[in-house]
Amino acid sequence: MERKQKERKGHLVLVPCPLPSHMSPMLHLAKLLHSQGFSITIIHTQLNSPNESHYPEFSFESIGGSMLESYSAFDGDVMLFLSKLNMKCETPFHECLVKMQLRCQYTPISCIIYDAVMYFSAAVADDLKLFRIVLRTSSAANYIGLSILDESDFVSEPRMEEPVAGFPFLRIKDMPLFSTQKHTREVLTCIYNGTRTASAIIWNSLWCLEHALFEKIKNETLVPVFPLGPLQKHCSSFSTNVLSEEQGCIAWLDKQAPSSVVYVSFGSVVTMTEDELLEMAWGLANSGQPFLWVVRACVVNGSDGVEMLPREFHEATRSRCRIASWLPQQKILAHTSIGCFLTHNGWNSTIESIAEGVPMLCWPRVGDQRVNARFVSHVWRVGLQLEDRLLREDVESAIQTLFIDEEGIEIHKRAKELKKKVDISLRQGGASSEFLSRLVKYISLQETMIRLSNA
Ligand code: UDP
Repeated sequence: MERKQKERKGHLVLVPCPLPSHMSPMLHLAKLLHSQGFSITIIHTQLNSPNESHYPEFSFESIGGSMLESYSAFDGDVMLFLSKLNMKCETPFHECLVKMQLRCQYTPISCIIYDAVMYFSAAVADDLKLFRIVLRTSSAANYIGLSILDESDFVSEPRMEEPVAGFPFLRIKDMPLFSTQKHTREVLTCIYNGTRTASAIIWNSLWCLEHALFEKIKNETLVPVFPLGPLQKHCSSFSTNVLSEEQGCIAWLDKQAPSSVVYVSFGSVVTMTEDELLEMAWGLANSGQPFLWVVRACVVNGSDGVEMLPREFHEATRSRCRIASWLPQQKILAHTSIGCFLTHNGWNSTIESIAEGVPMLCWPRVGDQRVNARFVSHVWRVGLQLEDRLLREDVESAIQTLFIDEEGIEIHKRAKELKKKVDISLRQGGASSEFLSRLVKYISLQETMIRLSNA
């Protein structure tokens, strides 16, 4: 451990959220900051925890071992899971940091960087007078959505189609609405406050995608924002997947025509009804395009979706379909045979698709997915959005529009243009790369001030 800590610019303690789609951006950020000369300690909860042997350059500290075993499979209520997680982690994290500060193998902590949903970290850092920065793994649009939403909007069904004041291209129904349950409201408020009060905000998003919103956030929070995204593209050989993947699909993709395959995946959490699964299946089958579909084991409300697909569907699609339970998504989106991504628009999926120039067919379900989908279809115009109520005819005709119609060709062109902007952002002198340099200077300055005040 001494070797890991010695002669580095400073010591950063990172607090990722154990949900797979949150763990990955934080690990990418860890790698990026390590490459900039910082030593890194990752705090983990032993739930979906990263395999330490894959990351010899980091130190790891565990909080909440046995107490979190009972949450190994949360029941689909992400907000309830987060509420319990935050309650359970605060004390062990406090104890862990106190111990770390006493142990001589660790250099003093320069900064705590925590996922916005791990808001307990804010209280602990403040109590120990540690400097803290928050990582937002969702879009700036989602943050703005949370900040402008009036509670009454949650309940008033007739207002759902109305435009949002100040954002005419957004409708109230595009806002990050969750349920009105008390624990949900409390968690969202804590996430929002835990972001607002940090010394700086790192985003897994890009200046070229959301600069107007970043300006607004900077003016409102009065703290620097560092959009460094897409985090996964800075160190592309670095893998963070904590779930096992089926690699055979790449060989299958190699045999498909360029830009011909529909990749279908709804992330790690979303579930659907049996009806929706069947509409999706027949829409894909009738589209005539080859498709690669991630059907997670519990996607149909806890049951195995693949078993619900009828024999006729398998017979009709055998020659042009692959189904898997989990795939190496980033590798797939980068494959030349992929022509479109049918997605729920979780932010990771959205930004991964943008980074590879893949047009999207959006079917958002909850939370930030709706606002992301609206930006995809109406602001960046690199996709089309399906209606909430999924019908096989709509899936089929939207796929055909994307692959055949003039509108689809324009969408493909814009997606490729946007990818170029992302590539430029990542190059030396580009926005994401510049924000990284600024972040390094910002943390180093804080580090110097800590050292001087301890001298
Ligand atoms: N993912 C993956 N393989 C799959 C499906 C998803 O690696 O078969 C990854 C995907 O690349 C993304 C994450 O899981 O990084 C899903 O995150 P997102 O924010 O899109 O959705 P969530 O899971 O939070 O709903």
